[in-house]
Amino acid sequence: MLSLTGLTRRYGSLTALDSVSLRLAPGARHAVIGPNGAGKTTLLNLIAGTERPTHGSVVLDGRDLTRTAPARRARRGIARSFQQPSVIAELTVLDNVVLAGWRHRTAHTGGGAGARALFRTGVRRRQRAEAAHRQLAAVGLAGYADHPASSLSHGQRRLLDLAAALATRPRVLLLDEPAAGLTDRDVNRLLEVLGGLPDDVAMLLVEHHTEVVSELADTVTVLVDGRELVAGPVQTALNHQAVRDAYLGTG
Ligand code: ATP
Repeated sequence: MLSLTGLTRRYGSLTALDSVSLRLAPGARHAVIGPNGAGKTTLLNLIAGTERPTHGSVVLDGRDLTRTAPARRARRGIARSFQQPSVIAELTVLDNVVLAGWRHRTAHTGGGAGARALFRTGVRRRQRAEAAHRQLAAVGLAGYADHPASSLSHGQRRLLDLAAALATRPRVLLLDEPAAGLTDRDVNRLLEVLGGLPDDVAMLLVEHHTEVVSELADTVTVLVDGRELVAGPVQTALNHQAVRDAYLGTG
C-alpha cells in the first residue's frame, strides 16, 4: 500500500535521512524510533509532503506521490497527527471534528460551491455531526462537544487532534510522538484509541516511549544518524544489542 524507497534528504552537507525504505500494508502497526536527530520527523515530513526528498520515492497504492503537495496526499488518505496541532481554538470541539471531515470530503468532490452547499444541507450536516460525536466519544471527549477547543487541556487537545485526523478516514495515519507531554490518564486513553484503529488503516508511529511502542506497534525501524540500524518485529529490534547500545544506552 505505502512504499517508501531509498528516501534520502540532505540539508547542505548534512544527510538527515539516508536511503530509508519501508513498506506499510493496510493494518500495519509500525514504529520509528531513534535518538534525537536520527531523522524520524524528516521521514514523516517526506511522507506527508511538507518536505521533498533529495532522492527516493513515496508511492501509495501504485501512485507516485513523491512530488505531490501535502493537501493532495491528505486527500489520498495520508493523515498526520500531533506535533503540528491542527485544532482551531475558537471553534467548538465538535466543529473541529466536523470541519476536518468536511474539508477532506470537499477536497474529494473537487471543492467549491457544490461542496459548500452539501455542507449546508440539513441531513448531511446532521450525519456529519453524528459521525463527529462518535469520533469524540472514541477519544473520550464526548462531554466536551459544545465547549470551545480553547478550553481543553493540552492532552485533550491532542486527543481532539487525533479525532480530527480520524474523521478524514485515513488509510495511513502518521503519528508524531503522540504520548509526549500527556498525563498517564491521557496516555491510557490514547493507547485505547490507537489500539482500536480500523484494521485497514496503516499506522506509522514516531515515539520515544518504548512502552508505547511495545504496546502499539508490531514492527519497528530503528534510525540512527538518518540510517536504518535495525528493522523487524518490535521485541527483536528493541533487544538487539546494537539498538541497546545506540538508542537505549544500556550497552
Ligand atoms: P528528534 O527526536 O530530536 O525530534 P528526529 O529523529 O526527529 O529528532 P529530525 O528532526 O528528522 O530528527 O532531524 C534529523 C537531522 O536533520 C538533525 O540533525 C536536524 O538538525 C536536521 N534537520 C532537520 N530539519 C532540518 C532543516 N530544515 N534544515 C537543516 N537541518 C535540518
